[in-house]
Amino acid sequence: MADIETDVLIVGTGPAGSATAALLSSYGVANMIVNRYRWLSNTPRAHITNQRTMEVLRDLGPEVEAEAMMHASPQELMGENVFCESLAGEEIGRMKSWGVHPLSKAEHLLSSPCFMNDLPQTFMEPILFKSACARGTQARMSTEYVSHVQDADGVTTTCHDRLSGKDFTVRSKFLVGADGGNSLVAEHLGLPLEGKMGVGGSMNILFRADLSKYVAHRPSVLYWVMQPGADVGGIGMGLVRMVRPWD
Ligand SMILES: Cc1cc2nc3c(=O)[nH]c(=O)nc-3n(C[C@H](O)[C@H](O)[C@H](O)COP(=O)(O)OP(=O)(O)OC[C@H]3O[C@@H](n4cnc5c(N)ncnc54)[C@H](O)[C@@H]3O)c2cc1C
Repeated sequence: MADIETDVLIVGTGPAGSATAALLSSYGVANMIVNRYRWLSNTPRAHITNQRTMEVLRDLGPEVEAEAMMHASPQELMGENVFCESLAGEEIGRMKSWGVHPLSKAEHLLSSPCFMNDLPQTFMEPILFKSACARGTQARMSTEYVSHVQDADGVTTTCHDRLSGKDFTVRSKFLVGADGGNSLVAEHLGLPLEGKMGVGGSMNILFRADLSKYVAHRPSVLYWVMQPGADVGGIGMGLVRMVRPWD
């Protein structure tokens, strides 16, 4: 007999897991979500949010879409994709992107009633997670997925409570592995992953500084910095990414 029973156990409170939980709870399906950390994403990571994603948020309810739009940077501020030697240096060129070119803007407007926007993961996750919990999802933080055993009727999953140091089991009809790119659930299932890992190195630096005078006249979410010799690892370019306009 397992310690806890639910219909769906979701491992991971990232965008995939939290959205799954919010949708299941909206449809009245009992579910529980676990995250090995004590809180949600602490870095902005995923941000360019497309129209289809916004339609999913609209399906969750107009208040969910509205809250996302309240925190998002609007599409008008996204699209002057700049290539430069440095933010304060020579500009090599610009490319209109993310649907701000008039031709592509028309396609966007015809494709969906929802708008592309820039919403860092630090804002998106709490919106999805809160929607899930408010609608009935049972959430357990500091709880790590350890292993699972599947049989004809469902799944028994072992989790580790990082606060008490104790293991417990969850019996569910389904287990969702939303535990990210290095998914242990997928590994335990033996699911094959296509593609090559570690093709380029990268380092992320999060900083706050008023950059208005360098970027506000050419609003974009991405500024590609190209310098001779900057070809170690990665893609040979640096990238200054807007998290909040313009600091
Ligand atoms: C530094 C960085 C920068 C990025 N920049 C961008 C970007 O600019 N644009 C973009 O679109 N995407 C970006 N990404 C990618 C984006 O963050 C991912 O595509 C997205 O987060 C995937 O969502 P997910 O819900 O599948 O997984 P994740 O967001 O990775 O969430 C996985 C969840 O599973 C939990 N978890 C993992 N293992 C366990 C376990 N054993 N037990 C319990 N919980 C577990 C984690 O704590 C987390 O809650 C970036 C990623 C990183 C790391």
